[in-house]
Amino acid sequence: MFRTIAAFDRIGEENAFTVLARANALTAQGRDIINLGIGQPDFRTPDHIVEAAVKALRDGHHGYTPATGIPALREAVAADLHKRFAVNVSPDEVMIMPGGKPTMFMSILMFGEPGADILYPDPGFPIYRSMIEFTGARPVPVPIREENGFAFSAEETLKLITPQTRLLILNSPANPTGGVTPKTEVDKLVAGLEQWPDVAVMSDEIYDHMTYDGERHVCLLSYPSLRDRLILLNGWSKTYAMTGWRLGYAVWPGKLYDYARKLAVNLHSCVNAPAQYAGIAALTGPQDAVRSMVAEFDRRRKVVVAGLNKLPGITCATPKGAFYAFPNVGKTGWKAKALASSLLEEAGVAIIGGPDFGILGEGYVRLSYANSTENILKALDRMGDFLASRKAA
Ligand code: PLP
Repeated sequence: MFRTIAAFDRIGEENAFTVLARANALTAQGRDIINLGIGQPDFRTPDHIVEAAVKALRDGHHGYTPATGIPALREAVAADLHKRFAVNVSPDEVMIMPGGKPTMFMSILMFGEPGADILYPDPGFPIYRSMIEFTGARPVPVPIREENGFAFSAEETLKLITPQTRLLILNSPANPTGGVTPKTEVDKLVAGLEQWPDVAVMSDEIYDHMTYDGERHVCLLSYPSLRDRLILLNGWSKTYAMTGWRLGYAVWPGKLYDYARKLAVNLHSCVNAPAQYAGIAALTGPQDAVRSMVAEFDRRRKVVVAGLNKLPGITCATPKGAFYAFPNVGKTGWKAKALASSLLEEAGVAIIGGPDFGILGEGYVRLSYANSTENILKALDRMGDFLASRKAA
């Protein structure tokens, strides 16, 4: 019998995809399911972006592109970062990736091995921990606390750094909490990191357009002291409602760029050519679709938070970013994962249990409000009826 490497006993996955499959299976059986589980905008990709991909195919862009992406797209990314954050990035530092996830995969692969520590947010995007475990590195959770507005704490993060720490993963606006880390806290963290020049940072900023209540996103590229060890993860999936296109980008410092290029050549050769032309149209074209999508998320955010706070045993802090609410369900008497699965099976509402995002996720569930207000209100009603009639399992 063949023998695979032990790392596959340690790799995890993303339960949101399992819940999506179950929700779809129940729908196929005729059940009426409201899906607040998966993290993807419920909007179509704007037409002018779709048209750019169609045109690219008609124009004959059917072949390989450079492994790092077509130059015009890398230039558009650099110009967009300059326009939004006044940072100077050379197109030569930008690599086009097949989505946001491959940047975390590659960067964790570059730093993870037995004996190395990698710090990651808990609760946080599950792939961070999964990939850290895959490499054999030690996953060191950075607690993300409700009492801190689900921002990361500079002090707590810095205390966890040791000479074994190779990589620190940051994510703001955050999945699953919707937390946004304020500039004062980022400033403190970056100042503290000056004591640890050998620690690389991977900043996952995939929700950078989605902040509310006047909160402004802080791009880590703005800090000169980090530039030679900062990996920026970003992409089109959330901002332009393009999750299925598989289009993302990374900004890699120094020699990491060439490592990433080689990984790309070994792995996927290049990103789908028409998707890259669509990416140019997205960045250089009108941004009104992005603005109206974010405004709509903001309206739904208020509906979901107000509705959750009326449910027995549930309290929900107001998220400042992304499109998730992360209510505290501790006082319902339910364990978070049992609540999520019973709500799906019995009440037809798909949500994700907090423990799917880390140990500190117990006592919470994640709701994505990337669904219509009508469906959100219906889901809240169903949750209320369920909690009133059903004893905790
Ligand atoms: N990073 C975070 C924090 C996310 O929530 C997601 C998607 O849910 C990703 C990265 C991955 O994005 P993509 O679909 O472009 O791979």
